[in-house]
Amino acid sequence: MLIRHHVEITRQALASEVGPRALEVIIRANVAQDSLRYQLFHDHFHFDNNQFEKSYAYIEEQRALIAPALGRGDAPSAWQAFGRMLHTVQDFYAHTDYIPRWLSRFEGQTPPAPEQVDPVSSEILGHPDLRSGKLYYPLEALAFIPFLRKFILPHLPADSHAHMNHDGHETSAHFDYVFHAAVKRTRVEFEKTAALFSSELREQFVDK
Ligand SMILES: [Zn+2]
Repeated sequence: MLIRHHVEITRQALASEVGPRALEVIIRANVAQDSLRYQLFHDHFHFDNNQFEKSYAYIEEQRALIAPALGRGDAPSAWQAFGRMLHTVQDFYAHTDYIPRWLSRFEGQTPPAPEQVDPVSSEILGHPDLRSGKLYYPLEALAFIPFLRKFILPHLPADSHAHMNHDGHETSAHFDYVFHAAVKRTRVEFEKTAALFSSELREQFVDK
């Protein structure tokens, strides 16, 4: 997903939950996951290439770092771990077919507004056919360049990242659903994470 969307999603979800200093550290750590060195060979950071188990494990690995960091008085490390896990959580909706599956429930009808999207349908999350886009390098890399995209697309298979991604309005008709699902899921993960702390650690974490 484009960096500006990660920023906006995280702000919308958390601006009323955490203080400005915490929010900035969380956002910086989130978008750093898209630096070039984490694009290649880090599929599980982005839910790419059907790396579902590794992606879920990465989320829990980062979540597990948060309480110990707060316990030793290192709130910035806690916010960074939270930012890294949110990147993966948000990419889930941009890189899998979760949203098309959710929308397919309303075929032949007007679907609900994007704000009504359910980001945690257990039926879809647990569906054995849930897929994410595969990265067919080196051709795939060229599809990220906007003016080349239309020439490259016909040469990539239907299960490629280039065809399946919902990284922005430019590449997906469903992007508003992706955006709202990611905002809602970010809040869900915030509550789930904060529920693990004592009230004292929670105070440090939200930093208000
Ligand atoms: Zn990413």
